[in-house]
Amino acid sequence: MRRSLIMGNWKLNGSLSMLAEFITSLSDQIDALKMCDIAIAPPAVYLHEAKKQLKNDRISLAAQNVDFNTGGAFTGELSPQMLKEVGAKYVIIGHSERRSYHQETNEGIAKKFALLKETGLIPVLCIGESETENAQGLTQTICAKQLDAILAKCGPDAFKNSVIAYEPIWAIGTGKAATASEAQKVHAFIRQHVSKGKDEIAKTVIIQYGGSVNASNADEFFAEKDIDGALVGGASLKVNDFLKIAQSA
Ligand code: PGA
Repeated sequence: MRRSLIMGNWKLNGSLSMLAEFITSLSDQIDALKMCDIAIAPPAVYLHEAKKQLKNDRISLAAQNVDFNTGGAFTGELSPQMLKEVGAKYVIIGHSERRSYHQETNEGIAKKFALLKETGLIPVLCIGESETENAQGLTQTICAKQLDAILAKCGPDAFKNSVIAYEPIWAIGTGKAATASEAQKVHAFIRQHVSKGKDEIAKTVIIQYGGSVNASNADEFFAEKDIDGALVGGASLKVNDFLKIAQSA
């Protein structure tokens, strides 16, 4: 059976004191959260300290990005091996903010995906359509294109032991979440598209929903059969809200 994964994406937010507060609160509550896996994705500079403070292996760490090179003259970048060394288990790639503000392409994201798998890290691949694409009925076409770039680079088993986050761009940080049934339809499509009839992949690939998930709407998403948890932005910055979302899983 798949376990839901609740991941907090802090984006460009946080501090050492926020990190310490989160680790204490999450560690105190983790025994009550038996139904899901929990991860936080603070800015990468905090991962090493987070790893040192974490005493409970049910709370995992994620990085928000990675480079597709393993080392060398790439100023400002971080490699998968470095992120692994400082304690990351997951790495978010292809977030729509990176696709739009940093001109990331499907091909570059596929290179990152491949390298993460080689390094033994779990990619959390973000996909999703814009508001215009949604209005034009292109949601599945866009998602398929983003997934196909990974399948082309990594082969039909690409999504074994991987995580996909379906994040409609129009729902990110806007307070305007998709409805649970809208999201469920897209999730079912994604599951079928990446597994291509292979039961093992269909049953195990984790597909999170992301985009304005909060403590009040999380239940509705988690009640849907193809929604395996959430990638949470804004509402992951307050530990009590984040815990409430995890309690709904
Ligand atoms: P949001 O962000 O929860 O603030 O909408 C989600 C995300 O960007 O992963």
